[in-house]
Amino acid sequence: MSPHTEESAVTVLGLGPMGRSLAGAFLDAGRRTTVWNRTQGRDRELATRGAVSVRSVEEAVAAGRVIVVCVVNYDAVDAILRREAVTGALKGRTVVNLTADTPDRARDTAAWAAEHGVRYLDGAIMTPTTTIGTPAAVFLHSGPEDVYREVRPALEALGGTHTHLGEDIGRAAAYDIALLDIFWTAMAGYVHALAVARAEGITGRELAPFAKGIGDILPPIFQEAAEEADNGNYSGDGNPITSAVSSMAHIVHTSEAHGIDAGVMRAAEGMARRAIGRGHGTDGFLRITELLGRR
Ligand code: NDP
Repeated sequence: MSPHTEESAVTVLGLGPMGRSLAGAFLDAGRRTTVWNRTQGRDRELATRGAVSVRSVEEAVAAGRVIVVCVVNYDAVDAILRREAVTGALKGRTVVNLTADTPDRARDTAAWAAEHGVRYLDGAIMTPTTTIGTPAAVFLHSGPEDVYREVRPALEALGGTHTHLGEDIGRAAAYDIALLDIFWTAMAGYVHALAVARAEGITGRELAPFAKGIGDILPPIFQEAAEEADNGNYSGDGNPITSAVSSMAHIVHTSEAHGIDAGVMRAAEGMARRAIGRGHGTDGFLRITELLGRR
């Protein structure tokens, strides 16, 4: 437990589900926690647990050494922070921005912070609200090493693992984008698979154990593919693109026969067919990593 002192005081701006979880973890760790949210009323449960709830961003900023921001995107961050009175109150304080957005927005926010004498660390949260305050939480951070060292004790209160990815302020957001790319394309595949299975009379519960089996074969494939991509080795031994594209065409055919949109799989099939058209049919699917972005 941290001592309940001014030094350990934190402020959380933004009380969506994630902001509330972060504030709750700070309270559980014994930190004096001041909270603010644009819409009133989201602070009720936190207030019963001892959070200090304030009506203005200026008051909230003045109350904390470390200001954690967690809102929907950087347009919201700008709306909260980039006002003269707030910028003035932030001077000399440290902002840890755990809002998700793009690497460019992170760099732009860092430039704004530097211009206004605000110490700034960018970050991304890679796990759901239920993990916050537990060992399962995963946080990525990027920005000045000295700022990271300064806020590290406060971050410890949030549980889980914290990784500082380096001084390039956009790096946490870049990891976030790449990792969410995996998550959302996987989820797009899963909802589509559930729809096709249902059309074939298979319930979600019936499919789920086998879907888990597919999930379980992915981690070693991810590791091997990452190494091959780094080495530029796209060998199709065992599963050439010509074989993969045939399997994809079956999925497109079956879903469209049921009147189910196959847009996601058609996009993957299109990439595979372009690779074959360029003479890479005997390579593995991974070859597409290199072809993406080329005209
Ligand atoms: P949301 O992404 O829905 O964000 C809601 C918060 O953003 C509320 O506090 C809302 O205020 C505020 N907000 C939106 N627009 C504005 C604005 N123009 N000005 C001021 N405040 C604004 O909810 P979460 O709390 O779940 O997510 C916060 C961040 O955490 C996001 O970037 C998200 O990607 C990230 N994250 C969330 C995870 C999760 O499991 N929820 C997991 C990992 C990351 P109001 O109440 O007034 O609308």
